[in-house]
Amino acid sequence: MFVLFLVLFFTGQLDMEGALTARDRVGIQDFVLLDETTEAAFLTNLRKRFCNDLIYTYVGTLLVSVNPYKELDIFNKKQMELYMGVNFFELPPHIYALADNAYHTMLTEFNNHFILISGESGAGKTEASKKILQYYAVSCPSTTLLNTVRDKMLKSNPVLEAFGNAKTLKNDNSSRFGKYMDIEFDSEGDAVGGHILNYLLEKSRVVHQNHGERNFHIFYQLVEGGEDSLVQQLGLERDCQHYNYLTQGQCAIVSSINDKNDWKTVRNALQVINNIYSVQHLFEIIASVLHLGNIRFDSDSKGHALLNNKAELRWVLSPFTIDHAIYARDALAKAIYGQTFTWLVNRINESMENKDPSKKTVIGLLDIYGFEVFYVNSFEQFCINYCNEKLQQLFIQLTLKAEQEEYEAEDIEWEPVQFFNNKIICDLIEEKHRGIISILDEECLRPGEATDLTFLERLEDKMGNHPHFVTHKLADKTTRKTLERGDFRLLHYAGEVTYCVVGFLDKNNDLLYRNIKDLMCQSKNAIVRECFSTMDPDSRRRPETVVTQFKSSLLKLTEILMAKEAWYIRCLKSNESKQPGQFDEALIRHQVKYLGLMEHLRVRRAGFAYRRKYEVFLKRYKPLCPATWPHWRGVPADGVEVLVQHLGYLPNEYKMGRTKIFIRHPRTLYATEDAYERC
Ligand code: ADP
Ligand code: MG
Repeated sequence: MFVLFLVLFFTGQLDMEGALTARDRVGIQDFVLLDETTEAAFLTNLRKRFCNDLIYTYVGTLLVSVNPYKELDIFNKKQMELYMGVNFFELPPHIYALADNAYHTMLTEFNNHFILISGESGAGKTEASKKILQYYAVSCPSTTLLNTVRDKMLKSNPVLEAFGNAKTLKNDNSSRFGKYMDIEFDSEGDAVGGHILNYLLEKSRVVHQNHGERNFHIFYQLVEGGEDSLVQQLGLERDCQHYNYLTQGQCAIVSSINDKNDWKTVRNALQVINNIYSVQHLFEIIASVLHLGNIRFDSDSKGHALLNNKAELRWVLSPFTIDHAIYARDALAKAIYGQTFTWLVNRINESMENKDPSKKTVIGLLDIYGFEVFYVNSFEQFCINYCNEKLQQLFIQLTLKAEQEEYEAEDIEWEPVQFFNNKIICDLIEEKHRGIISILDEECLRPGEATDLTFLERLEDKMGNHPHFVTHKLADKTTRKTLERGDFRLLHYAGEVTYCVVGFLDKNNDLLYRNIKDLMCQSKNAIVRECFSTMDPDSRRRPETVVTQFKSSLLKLTEILMAKEAWYIRCLKSNESKQPGQFDEALIRHQVKYLGLMEHLRVRRAGFAYRRKYEVFLKRYKPLCPATWPHWRGVPADGVEVLVQHLGYLPNEYKMGRTKIFIRHPRTLYATEDAYERC
């Protein structure tokens, strides 16, 4: 009995009190150490931790985070200080530990990193990225000059959220654009600059919102919170209900959002824009979009549109039908807003610019819209979900696939782990000449002839028997009942999504009437003038379609990321009703499945967390062993073997590959690092 007690005690299954084991109460901190790798064991562990307000758990160096939907007392300066410079596995799992580890690896190895934050809409990605930024703001060394850069980086967040986030059914503060931010550090570890790349803002939201959703926050903030003089000067009514563009979702005012207070934060954060006149111009643009939305048209005897309310704007005279006129009005509103958003990102980038970019390393933070399924899904969801397929593909490439291929290449004994590769879905969407994007673009080239429905027919012709594509016509009897005639359904890696084709062609073309564009180039508002004059300078060339631009920007992003060392945060949504303390097991199981967490765990458990080329490893650690210091005369691999044996590594803790050493667990490596520090 006593022996059993001792065994349990030393294996960590009994705590000092000898009562309930720590593992029984709060679960274990790293899934790699679980006794079984079953989904049930995984979920039980996750639930135990969640019920104890422990939202973070590791799978090796990957961080799993479950949205608590309540404020936890673990995000403060004291906690940050606790994690600074401490080895990854020494303290309970935390986003600060991951941020700190990426930072220190960057400094010691002088290489570039990125942190990929993924998970579905509302899972906590944006909050996670903010926490990382806040951590660096506190933990990095500071000087007065650098404080300015740091301050701008922090302030860029509320500004971009005001202009790029909105309430959706999934999330009251949903990011409606993708964001990749490089934080640049000098060799001392000071944050010296930042740069943001933004991806496909959901412009259609400016003119249309589904039931229960809102337009971008900034509109409501200005109307509700703008100073009296400002509101008056912009000719606005202090009532969101007055504006067509604010009321289509019938939830302009919601209790969870305080637009008045948020306005103050945003107003203050707008200091990132150095020019005070520009800020005024920005407000004018927001107001003008609201006015634009209130323009209505009557028709004359020939069916041409006539302005109903001239107060808002003097309109371009053109023989439009009412439908055309509304289309032109909305297209203009979307173009103005979209261009202004890009302008804003450019100004923020200027303000965070690194003054001496010659010597720098970066940590990139990717916070992009998560996988989305609504009751009705349109072109926007198609783009967002396509983007998520690409990121999943990147994750597979960098972890599951590359990892296993490397063991093979290095001749390391290895039991292959099966996983679902979503390349087949990426190809279905983006393959040249054959994918959905190509077909959509081809239809967009046949104005007057093609419609959303001819697009659907062409898809049916080409994709007819693809296992991840189905429509009403192609489906079997049972499935057919769940599809409308204008729908197509994709079986994404994260689940089925049914897309309604209505609007696909228009949204992909995103056309703006030439004369309206010319008119905008003469605007008195400097931002509008600047944006529209730089827009598509060669008017003879057909502008690229929206989805094709998006596809190339995602390709570029993949290249940027592939050149860096990766860290992952997988965010899980705990429940659909945004409630604290609710652990919806079915919902979480689904996410664990499609995010590939079980496969990742299996690869991690069977594999080696750390690997380095023999030369690199030897160069760094040779001072730790008399036989390798100051020079090792033989082949590097032999030197490394002598070195690790001298350090006391057990045979099952490492493996020697063709060109690299593989170390099973970072814990043993940290001992090496510590020895190195002491040396
Ligand atoms: P996503 O970017 O993945 O769509 P968000 O990061 O915007 O999701 O999170 C959605 C909401 O969930 C937040 O507005 C907040 O209310 C809550 N939330 C997310 N992460 C946390 C956290 N760590 N602590 C408390 N609440 C959180
Ligand atoms: Mg977000």
